[in-house]
Amino acid sequence: MEKVAIIGSGCAGWTAALYSARANLKPLVLSGAQPGGLLTTTTIVENYPGFPEGIDGYELITRFQKQAERFGARVKFGQVESADLCREPFLLTVDGETIQAETIIIASGASHRHLGLQSENKLENKGVTYCATCDGALPIFRNQPLVVVGGGDSACEEALYLTRFGSVVHLVHRRDQLRASKIMAERTLSHDKIKPVWNSVVTEVLDVHQDKVTGVRVKNLKTDVEQVLDSAGLFVAIGHIPNTQIFCGAIDMDEMGYIIPKHGTATNVPGVFVAGDCADHVYRQAVTAAGTGCAAAMDAERYLAARNE
Ligand SMILES: Cc1cc2nc3c(=O)[nH]c(=O)nc-3n(C[C@H](O)[C@H](O)[C@H](O)COP(=O)(O)OP(=O)(O)OC[C@H]3O[C@@H](n4cnc5c(N)ncnc54)[C@H](O)[C@@H]3O)c2cc1C
Repeated sequence: MEKVAIIGSGCAGWTAALYSARANLKPLVLSGAQPGGLLTTTTIVENYPGFPEGIDGYELITRFQKQAERFGARVKFGQVESADLCREPFLLTVDGETIQAETIIIASGASHRHLGLQSENKLENKGVTYCATCDGALPIFRNQPLVVVGGGDSACEEALYLTRFGSVVHLVHRRDQLRASKIMAERTLSHDKIKPVWNSVVTEVLDVHQDKVTGVRVKNLKTDVEQVLDSAGLFVAIGHIPNTQIFCGAIDMDEMGYIIPKHGTATNVPGVFVAGDCADHVYRQAVTAAGTGCAAAMDAERYLAARNE
């Protein structure tokens, strides 16, 4: 029987593990298909406090893990396939094996939507990125033309943020008006550095042969005419998919699948807590995920203490 089982091994999961290990709860971290989470996919992290020179994403999350393991956290590699939260202890199935747990911290993150282009895939982290806050200030994007694809609030926020760095920001959207809230759309479209490219989709990211982004080919869906926008970066902002499908029906979520905590990090099921990007469609940063991981561990510890009183 586990006192604390943590689903996910990203910033939120390992921080929850660190705090619950230090509370002597010997947490078990279930890694999922992406051990280390999203940070392992990025090279340089420049906004995690404490690393003035920046730090490689993989190196940073490896340090999270080592620190938690030092205090007794354990890891099991594997994907949680199902969760029975209707009974206590809770039952998790990991690669066919059943794990019983008194408390669970869900830290399963959110995957970003891809455009689905081969060139996008090949140039990821070489100018193609999914987070302007994370990457926008990198030297390769400074004073360069940039492209954002998307039409919602996130795309507008990304475009506005990038106006601080890029010389011009093309905003490519498949319709002839933004989906974003009215105020955000107006702020975006009135910015003199932002140039909307309406009714258009990205068909190719250039240039795979040079191993860096030099431009973006877009096609107008109404005229079928293609054009190449010179660009040093493609910022894809077409949404995220929270990794919460296995909790559908048991845990309260919004219409997009983000878990809605009831109070603090507690969910609607007593003993089940949530941390990180699977409950956050606003901030989505390593430091915020780590912060809620800490909070979830403290909430789980207090829940266990109250039960044993
Ligand atoms: C390219 C890129 C660059 C970024 N750069 C920065 C940056 O510079 N600074 C910054 O602050 N943020 C950055 N971010 C954002 C940051 O990585 C995320 O906000 C952070 O990783 C969220 O942490 P998390 O623990 O909530 O989720 P994740 O890191 O996504 O981890 C989720 C974990 O859950 C596991 N999981 C999922 N489903 C299951 C399951 N069924 N069973 C078991 N485990 C499961 C996964 O395997 C994974 O280990 C970047 C993101 C990307 C994609």
